[in-house]
Amino acid sequence: MTEPRKMNVESFNLDHTAVAAPFIRLADRKELPHGDVLTKFDVRFTQPNVAHLEMDAVHSIEHSFAECVRDHSAQVIDFGPMGCQTGFYLIMSGDHAPEDIRDLVLATMAQMLELTEVPAANEVQCGWGAHHSLDAMRAAVEEFTAHADELLAVMR
Ligand SMILES: [Zn+2]
Repeated sequence: MTEPRKMNVESFNLDHTAVAAPFIRLADRKELPHGDVLTKFDVRFTQPNVAHLEMDAVHSIEHSFAECVRDHSAQVIDFGPMGCQTGFYLIMSGDHAPEDIRDLVLATMAQMLELTEVPAANEVQCGWGAHHSLDAMRAAVEEFTAHADELLAVMR
């Protein structure tokens, strides 16, 4: 078989059949024109092409993680869902070891599991305020954190 063409999008060059979710993976590192560095982490919840998160879970994880993680780090740029509904991208200012991102993610998730409501799940603060599930968020986060010891092992 010939090597597939290297594509522009980093994750399009990742063999999604060879990974073992959940995991945390450094997906990209960019040095900006003035020397600042951005790092992008793949925070994968479910095994690609085997399982995915329902959209209300994705949405409520997005809200809850985005709000809570900023209590633990001032270097968060963005946390956003993947269209395949198997995980999220966490974009950070500066260089970070995957071990440190794992600790940040787990501290954030511990806080998420204490939530009694999804942050900003209303029509004023969100574009689809009714489209949330606290229970689905909690179930997905509990499943992710149950694998806390294996998160840095990306490939099978
Ligand atoms: Zn929203």
